[in-house]
Amino acid sequence: MTKSAPVTRGPSPAEIERRHAGLAILDVDEVVLHFIAPFCELLAEYGARLHFDSFRLTGNVRSISTGAALTGHELDGVTERLYAEQERRQAPVEGVAPALRRLSETADIVFLTAMTPSFYDHRRRLLDAAGLPYPMIATERSKGGLVAELAERQDGPVAFVDDLPPNLEGVRRSLPRAHLVHFMANAEFRPHLPPMPPGTLRADDWTGLEAILADILGDGATVEDK
Ligand SMILES: [Mg+2]
Repeated sequence: MTKSAPVTRGPSPAEIERRHAGLAILDVDEVVLHFIAPFCELLAEYGARLHFDSFRLTGNVRSISTGAALTGHELDGVTERLYAEQERRQAPVEGVAPALRRLSETADIVFLTAMTPSFYDHRRRLLDAAGLPYPMIATERSKGGLVAELAERQDGPVAFVDDLPPNLEGVRRSLPRAHLVHFMANAEFRPHLPPMPPGTLRADDWTGLEAILADILGDGATVEDK
């Protein structure tokens, strides 16, 4: 069976309105919306539990009664259900909406999520209802290429925030000038985080993340100033 082409939903990079020189590109799961906490709540409904023994889900989710690890296929099913029910299960990370409202006065904000793109409308409604109206792209492509396309028309600083180090590394390769920031709302994987690309900054809450992004994105020159 041939693999189908990766699907992307949402505006194309060229369609996204450009208002400021600086650009912040943010992952959604574990950066803007909680993912691990509601994932654990859903697992409990299946009689399973996530053990934070290493930095991965596969193999670390085990049946409470038998101790057997759930397969990757079973975990994909849980994740799909979480995405389908995200509007009642995935809460915004504490402080994200006011922080982005302030940052959006000086920089453009774009959400870039690897969520299954068929749930785009669910996520769009959830973000809008949470006061997070910024453009979102949902893609099965690797993030690096899209970040480079988003940054093409942007002369100012570009920040990229994600909880998964491979995504940070992919962006470092595609857009070496990007400022990389690691952020993961859930604290329990932090002791097991793999090494980050050189120069990656880290925050543990949105107060710290806002300060880092404000520092990277600077005074917010507008497109007209250029
Ligand atoms: Mg994420």
